[in-house]
Amino acid sequence: MPVLNRIAALAPEMTEWRQDFHAHPELGFEEHRTSDIVARKLESWGIEEHRGLATTGLVGVLRNGGSGRSIGLRADMDCLPMTEQNDVPHRSTVPGRMHACGHDGHTATLLGAARYLAETRNFDGTVHFIFQPAEEGGGGGNVMVQEGLFERFPCDAVYGIHNDPTLPLGEAKVVPGTVLAASDRVSITIRGIGGHAARPHATIDPVLIGAQVLVALQGLVSRRTDPLDSAVLSITMFQAGSAMNVIPDAAELKGTVRTLQPETRDMMERRIAQIAEGIAAAHEATAEVVYTRLYPPTVNHPEETARAARAAAKVLGAAKVIGEAPPIMGGEDFSFMLLARPGAFVMMGQQEAARGGVPVHHPRYDFNDAMLPVGASYFAALVEQELPRG
Ligand SMILES: [Zn+2]
Ligand SMILES: [Zn+2]
Repeated sequence: MPVLNRIAALAPEMTEWRQDFHAHPELGFEEHRTSDIVARKLESWGIEEHRGLATTGLVGVLRNGGSGRSIGLRADMDCLPMTEQNDVPHRSTVPGRMHACGHDGHTATLLGAARYLAETRNFDGTVHFIFQPAEEGGGGGNVMVQEGLFERFPCDAVYGIHNDPTLPLGEAKVVPGTVLAASDRVSITIRGIGGHAARPHATIDPVLIGAQVLVALQGLVSRRTDPLDSAVLSITMFQAGSAMNVIPDAAELKGTVRTLQPETRDMMERRIAQIAEGIAAAHEATAEVVYTRLYPPTVNHPEETARAARAAAKVLGAAKVIGEAPPIMGGEDFSFMLLARPGAFVMMGQQEAARGGVPVHHPRYDFNDAMLPVGASYFAALVEQELPRG
């Protein structure tokens, strides 16, 4: 079973939906327009919709037959705060807002699957279509779980996809265990004593101290993390001062920390504070460290991953389903759903030679519409496999 025929017929419409979402991107928890459109479409296909979870999140419920089995399928809807550099007809109409992670495509994919399943009803059980807000840092998936997503809409298992521009179209990574990293934020404020740049001895220079902290922190990756484990510490913002002849009284460093193992995550949190505070103290300055745990690692459950692989193989062919791959150091808030329910997160290839494989979060990224029927067929095949009739 390659791309399902009925879904192939829906492809032009799915492309229209996707490009419309792309032209009207909305940030996390502000996806009102997107959410309205999704709700109206679900309703028009006879799918019961429940709105208001995590502000703009919604769940579509489609029941068929008498079985008590249930499945959750999830898509994210938010964009990124960046300006698009593509010159396509469906380019973003909002400056500083862009669907640069393909969540427009994920939403259209799940809508396509919903329409197919509502029309064909070749399953026995309940399908929950979960449209979540604010994946990009806002943790909308976690908010939905906290607000009782799985109590109100019980799911035996929950499945999600993400497009992968580094993987050829028609292939998928369906890998058990840890597939994406824990994603945390760190902010360090160093306070010294400001003064005249020509009289440094009368100041405590937070810029010099900040530079030493920045360099020392990299030792946590190279010297304190097991070489066979992985960690990333990227200080991406270093802000201090307002004049070339003034030593400022404070410097601020901010960045992101990615880890795969809980003990490495604990070590990072503890040691970043010790290093910053210790180096600051050595210079008679102070450091205030705020470490925020955002997303846990995304860990696929082995049994559900095998089920996802079987469904993916029906659509793509077994040879195109990659069952083993190293984790990616990006993060995902689908991780919270996988902590609450068993399930699997699949990376779906969308690269084609002509498109050059522009990575996500790049101002020239665009979701490949050719992936829409592939993703929707995977979701549909998964439902028909997991909620079989008779
Ligand atoms: Zn993203
Ligand atoms: Zn994403």
